Amino acid sequence: MKFEGIEGCERFLSPGKGRGVRATKHFQVGDLVFACPAYSYVLTVNERGGYCEFCFARKEGLSKCGKCKQAYYCNVECQKGDWSMHKMECSAMCAYGENWCPSETVRLVARIIMKQKFLTDLTQSERLLSLKEFESHLDKIDNEKNEMNQTDIAALHHFYSKHLDFPSNADLVELFAQVNCNGFTIEDEELSHLGSAVFPDVALMNHSCNPNAIVTYNGTVAEVRAVQKISPGEEIFNSYIDLLYSTEDRTERLEQSYFFTCDCTECTTKSKDNAKLEIHQKLSSAPEAKEIEEMVKYAKNIIEEFRRAKHYKNILTSHFYSVVIFGVSPPSDLLEICELSLERMGSIFVDTNVYMLHMMYQAMGVCLYMQDWDGAMKYGEKIVEPYSVHYPPYSLNVASMYLKLGRLYMGLEKKTQGVKALQKAIDIMNVAFGKDHPYVAEVQKEIETH
Ligand SMILES: [Zn+2]
Ligand SMILES: [Zn+2]
Ligand SMILES: [Zn+2]
Repeated sequence: MKFEGIEGCERFLSPGKGRGVRATKHFQVGDLVFACPAYSYVLTVNERGGYCEFCFARKEGLSKCGKCKQAYYCNVECQKGDWSMHKMECSAMCAYGENWCPSETVRLVARIIMKQKFLTDLTQSERLLSLKEFESHLDKIDNEKNEMNQTDIAALHHFYSKHLDFPSNADLVELFAQVNCNGFTIEDEELSHLGSAVFPDVALMNHSCNPNAIVTYNGTVAEVRAVQKISPGEEIFNSYIDLLYSTEDRTERLEQSYFFTCDCTECTTKSKDNAKLEIHQKLSSAPEAKEIEEMVKYAKNIIEEFRRAKHYKNILTSHFYSVVIFGVSPPSDLLEICELSLERMGSIFVDTNVYMLHMMYQAMGVCLYMQDWDGAMKYGEKIVEPYSVHYPPYSLNVASMYLKLGRLYMGLEKKTQGVKALQKAIDIMNVAFGKDHPYVAEVQKEIETH
């Protein structure tokens, strides 16, 4: 098997990083570097009905699968196209009813195994890197992750045995580890979770906290665009993690989830850390180092609690979402937790401190869920400008915050502010998603029809 290659970039050995992707031509900001169709993908259960299971088109009036009445499609073509994958779940969902509960990772792995059954050659998703070459970092997996993988393997056997011949347990352990390190979550323009997928060529890119490329999704295709000028010979980097946080926090996250230490310019210079961790500096009552340390510990604990609650639902999700944790506590309780922690942290941290912003983001999510539009707007207004400072240019996090805020303004009849915020979102989206993306057209329409 020989790799087909991609015009404009190539696979190479990156010093200190192993394999990576490098440019073979010039890319300007906003240029498409390459696109990669999903090797396998799955729509998240919560978005059933809003998106086509096969092509991920978002529209109203999709038609239901007549058997399970749970999968929705644009038309007969999409339903037929999806059947080889959906059939594994269709009858099982009918048989198990409420008790049908494989994790999203299990659903994705089942699809990968099904796909591999019929493949003899490399796919269009593997022009630089094949799925078989994925790193698994098996030697570094801790007990907690190991247990989670074993639970997933049991669920895979339980829910998919009718349609699949399983590889050996050792091979399954490796496959789950590979998917955990190399899987992507597909998100919409507001960064809501839509599904999980594997894109081998995209997974070949190494991480940087100051990335020169960004990944967005058009249906089930991943698109990589330049967010900085890239010259021939330069390595192409995207970011694996949320870049809001300080160097120490990012380092921890990268080590825990991806098993490497980042040495990008941002991690070496730490140029944004002071602003990200800023504290009140009143001469009379400047907090002591110990107090600050305690408060950082408190902030990290509460973030971790939120993250763990969410972890049960979907171990692939990389962003912190409030919506996902609602299964655990009622929203009004959550809002109170957010407010109390903001009050406590606010005695030491300034409002633009990333721990404050994190908690405000959670609070905003809860407000949106409770349809408290004014509350959500107030948090959004506090978040959006510091976000633009802390995140790199053309950040999807910043774009999505302008979008949320703009849509809130429009709904609250504050049209001047709404148009302004939506326009800021579009400016970023034009680069990140490309001018022709359906999401950009939708936002444009929202501006024009109001
Ligand atoms: Zn479709
Ligand atoms: Zn069905
Ligand atoms: Zn870094």
